[in-house]
Amino acid sequence: MQLTHSPEEAYQYLEGGGEMGQLTRQYDWASTAIGSPDTWPQSLLTTLSIILNSRFPMFLWWGPELVQFYNDAYRPSLGNNGKHPKALGQRGEDCWPEIWPVIKPLIDQVLTTGEATWNEDQLIPIYRNNRLEDVYWTFSYSKVIGEGGTIGGVLVICNETTDKVKTYKAAEEARMELEFAIEAAEMGTWDLDPATNRFIGNDRIKSWFGLAPDDEINLADAISSIAEHDRERVTAAIQSAMRKGSDGNYNVVYTIVNPQNKTERIVKAIGKAKFDAEGNVCRFSGTLEDVTDEYLVQQRKDEFLSIASHELKTPLTSLKASMQILQKLVNTDQGSDKVPFFVDKANSSLSKLLYLIDDLMNVSKIQQGQLGLHKTRINLVELVNDCCEHVRMNDRYELVVGGDKELFIDADYRRIDQVIVNLVNNAIKYAPRSNRIEINVEHNAENAKVSVRDFGIGVSAEKLPHLFDRYYRVDSLGVQFSGLGLGLYICSEIVKRHKGQIGVDSEVGAGSTFWFTLPLNPLLDEE
Ligand code: ADP
Repeated sequence: MQLTHSPEEAYQYLEGGGEMGQLTRQYDWASTAIGSPDTWPQSLLTTLSIILNSRFPMFLWWGPELVQFYNDAYRPSLGNNGKHPKALGQRGEDCWPEIWPVIKPLIDQVLTTGEATWNEDQLIPIYRNNRLEDVYWTFSYSKVIGEGGTIGGVLVICNETTDKVKTYKAAEEARMELEFAIEAAEMGTWDLDPATNRFIGNDRIKSWFGLAPDDEINLADAISSIAEHDRERVTAAIQSAMRKGSDGNYNVVYTIVNPQNKTERIVKAIGKAKFDAEGNVCRFSGTLEDVTDEYLVQQRKDEFLSIASHELKTPLTSLKASMQILQKLVNTDQGSDKVPFFVDKANSSLSKLLYLIDDLMNVSKIQQGQLGLHKTRINLVELVNDCCEHVRMNDRYELVVGGDKELFIDADYRRIDQVIVNLVNNAIKYAPRSNRIEINVEHNAENAKVSVRDFGIGVSAEKLPHLFDRYYRVDSLGVQFSGLGLGLYICSEIVKRHKGQIGVDSEVGAGSTFWFTLPLNPLLDEE
């Protein structure tokens, strides 16, 4: 082999370079395909001098066998108990069996075209630290001209980006988790730039404010979508959170009126303002939660308490009055023919009280899942006739019961009686100007169906879906009907427990037909 340099000259290029410099100088290069350093071309020596003395991770494949060199900066990428120091002077193919199919085409591309490659954050798992590790790299392969102007080797300048990629992935995962939580909680999120008074928000918040997904939100526009009665309070809360020296906390409940469709939504806004070193607000962000339902249930509960106390007090007051009169009659005029009248009145007040208390107890049983069923075989028409006895006895009402007299079902007699009595009593109560009530019993292959029809005040279409909600009562323009708004709720729970359905067809002024179904096949019903 022809000497290109004296050995001393050649080794001058290999000076420095820390551990890898020393290993490179000590290596028995004569035993490799590229021979000893004094036979190496100038370009290889110069490239090695650059590689060994650089603090940037570098690697070189040289000659047809792709014999390897690398520097101290590259060395940690090989891990402990891995390829180092064996990789020095090794043939590429022998060193990297696990990734050779990935990197060989890149090397060939450089060798054949002379074009450099560029890969960013590429996953190239390598064997190090006694295991195959997922390692990410940003790297470029480029040619190094050797003897006679041909490409003599491939230089790899690379950077391991595993930490960066893992950090990015962890941040991305945390972001996805947060997004998932926000999505699951159906929350709106907002982030206000106090410098511009514009804010970004997720699609949900935009839809609440009547904006399209790509619209930017202007604080003034957003505030104009807040219900007028809340606007001043919300503006004051925003200003107070962003004021210099404040704790930055923002917590306010208000109503948004969608400017397009005018729907109202009660929202709870929670946020935090952040301040710079001078104490000036630099960011203000938080969440918005739709609490409309919560507020309306709560509101109904409050209404319910006041209605319940009123409803309980009315029969009690009447009972007390009857008892006082009876007391007087007993004291003064023992034989008075008025006594039976006031005893009846007292009894009727007591019955009303018992009904009300029964309803309250039923609701708490339902709430605690304790509405047990005791099923027996029941003739449905007989049950209807029995439970409507009280209506028949009153000459004022014309009760018509029709349908299948031989229809038997398995059900809890007392509970189904309760449902029918409730529907019939409502048919009386909400039809003050009519006296006809029609009850029909029918069935198809799967279900029995009982319908109770009245010709009373009816219910408007938008109220119908709520009738079976707990505490729900329709405001009937000026007419005061007594009640707790629990009867239909209890009926629907009893029917559901029997695996049936309940519903209503109604027209304002024309009357209503409340109906429920019960399954005929007891095998499908595990109660
Ligand atoms: P309550 O009668 O104690 O208010 P319900 O749960 O039985 O409670 O009924 C809920 C609401 O449904 C009533 O307040 C009433 O507005 C409406 N409603 C029930 N039955 C009828 C009916 N037959 N006709 C018209 N409205 C009815």
